[in-house]
Amino acid sequence: MNIRFDRLLLAAGTLGAAAWLCVAQAPQGQQKTPSPFQDPAGHVRQDAYAPLPVPAADRAYEKIDGHRIKEKDLEVVAISHQSRDAGDRYWGRIAGTKYEKLTAQWAEAKWRQYGLTDVHEQEYTLGPQWFGLDWNVTATGSGKTLTFKSLNPAVGSVPTPPGGLEAEAVWVGTGSAADFMGRDVRGKAVLILSILEPGNMGESAGWEGAWKRAADLGAAAIFTIWGYNENLAVWQGMSGGRGNPIRVPGFFMGWEDGKALRDLIAQGNPVKLKMNLKTEMRDNLKAVASFATLPGMSDENIWVIAHTDGYYEAALDNASGLAVMTTLAEYFSQIPKEKRRRSITFAATSGHHAGSPTTLYLHDHRDSILAKTALILNCEHISHNDLLQWSTHLRASNTIQERRWWVYGSNRLMDIAHKAFLEFGVNLVAEMDPNASGDMGHIERDAPSIQVIDSPEIKHTDWDIPERVPDAGLAAVARAYAKIIDEVNKMDRKDLLPVSFRSQR
Ligand SMILES: [Zn+2]
Repeated sequence: MNIRFDRLLLAAGTLGAAAWLCVAQAPQGQQKTPSPFQDPAGHVRQDAYAPLPVPAADRAYEKIDGHRIKEKDLEVVAISHQSRDAGDRYWGRIAGTKYEKLTAQWAEAKWRQYGLTDVHEQEYTLGPQWFGLDWNVTATGSGKTLTFKSLNPAVGSVPTPPGGLEAEAVWVGTGSAADFMGRDVRGKAVLILSILEPGNMGESAGWEGAWKRAADLGAAAIFTIWGYNENLAVWQGMSGGRGNPIRVPGFFMGWEDGKALRDLIAQGNPVKLKMNLKTEMRDNLKAVASFATLPGMSDENIWVIAHTDGYYEAALDNASGLAVMTTLAEYFSQIPKEKRRRSITFAATSGHHAGSPTTLYLHDHRDSILAKTALILNCEHISHNDLLQWSTHLRASNTIQERRWWVYGSNRLMDIAHKAFLEFGVNLVAEMDPNASGDMGHIERDAPSIQVIDSPEIKHTDWDIPERVPDAGLAAVARAYAKIIDEVNKMDRKDLLPVSFRSQR
């Protein structure tokens, strides 16, 4: 028994059973007590989420089953595996690749299975698209050599010159102006720690202008540490502000790798970074979106959209949205047409991470395509377990992380959305977002629109895996969206539009 444990025993003796329970949490290095909330791999069990009772009047929506939605999510994730298994280092359902197209075709197969009509594709030509082909970085100093498991180039990074690049590493904290004071970073490789925004996509290196500052001061390369926990490999760009791209090779790495590099610098001897990065810009890639209709009794429609492209497995972003979108197609296809007041148009939208050309097209043609649209529902980043930072680790909980949300429409539409979210347990940030963001950004005010969206710190990383997408949260949003569609179909379009919309047109 070591000294620390003796002290804990003493504490337990004086403070009683409650304190003993606290110290039963294993000190670091000791074996953990198995938790009934976790599966053997340590992921939260699907039956660990407390079910919310559905009121008797709405039992019909219980047919929408979280486990079945998850099965669809897994099918979409399997498309990403094809890209990984083909040897792509920049893998996933990347916009403009055949894996994005396969995802659209996956949705088409589902729609056909549910008897939808007018299943068709539309192609959009993307602007030049960046691809990371190959890269490696080693750090040497104080007799040690480090390599970095979580290292990815920054999306959009310029390549290193042929033959690579060598530069001395300099730690610049969070990269604020104060951090750079008195530092000569010209020709050096700066190492920046970026603080993440859990629940959102932003990070401190962006708000602080850290990348632009490093580039303006003549840095030869920029390394960014993705947050203060675990070792997440991320696909993320370095922004220098509008129309101001960073022209310096950039890399991201997870905390554990970043800490190792930082601590090597702290030994006080020069640390040399040797880096190679091969990239390619591909022109004229096509982003393929697909559409289908579930006909209703009038010429008005409701849109249900979900984007297809994503990084790594992209189980949350956005296999979860595709799974919910196709589940809504399945659910409403089983309701007799006479009871469907409006058609529902389903869309698997493409190129979300390349400018969202599908919804841009809808926006440009809003006066024809969206003129009789009573509602647009966006299915994006539906369900993720809440993560608690525990020292530098992330611990998953049996709650679903709160989602950001958006409702554009009349007070009655807001009322419908509010009640549906509460009834089915869709937990939300209390305040509404100032804009829709996500794939609905282009069309957020072109018709009444609703979305919920979550962007935890694992978004765009190798942690975006199905085990962290709770079935219960998939069901909650799918049921709430189904109920919203039913309630909206009891109302005339004019009563769903916001007052400002009517006066504008
Ligand atoms: Zn997304």
